Amino acid sequence: MRRRPACLTGSSANLWFDDGDTARIERKIVVKAYKIDHIGIAVASIADSLPIYEALGLAEAHREIVASQGVRTAFLPIGDSSIELLEPTSEDSPVAKFLAKRGGGVHHVCLAVDDIEAALRDLAARGFRLLQSEPLEGARGKRVAFLHPASGNGVLIELSQEPARTKR
Ligand code: ZN
Repeated sequence: MRRRPACLTGSSANLWFDDGDTARIERKIVVKAYKIDHIGIAVASIADSLPIYEALGLAEAHREIVASQGVRTAFLPIGDSSIELLEPTSEDSPVAKFLAKRGGGVHHVCLAVDDIEAALRDLAARGFRLLQSEPLEGARGKRVAFLHPASGNGVLIELSQEPARTKR
């Protein structure tokens, strides 16, 4: 069926496509992750884990309790990215459950995006399962949300938006 895409106006309004092309055209827009913001690593104890990374030349630059996720976090910058050590602050924190089930290890990968609300809307529209449909307050003043691991082929993917990039 030929129809005019409702989202396009002006010169683009001359563009027509059939339903078979819709997905391909929509894939061009909205989400463009531009760097690995950090890699989250679940640990029973930040104090016990720091020496591993310090031996590799990294140094802790920031520590913070993130109440929304029940974790104490320590960030160790590396290049334009960071290692985030995650230590649970309570037994019902998701990270405590992860540690109980799998032991310590890589917990999530965080990708930086420019507009997290638009990214979540776009991913939801494509059928991705989201753990949050609205961003939460994450560490370092960033706004974050997680995709369900079922939508990441077993990888827990976090999206984050820099405070300076917040659009209001
Ligand atoms: Zn994270």
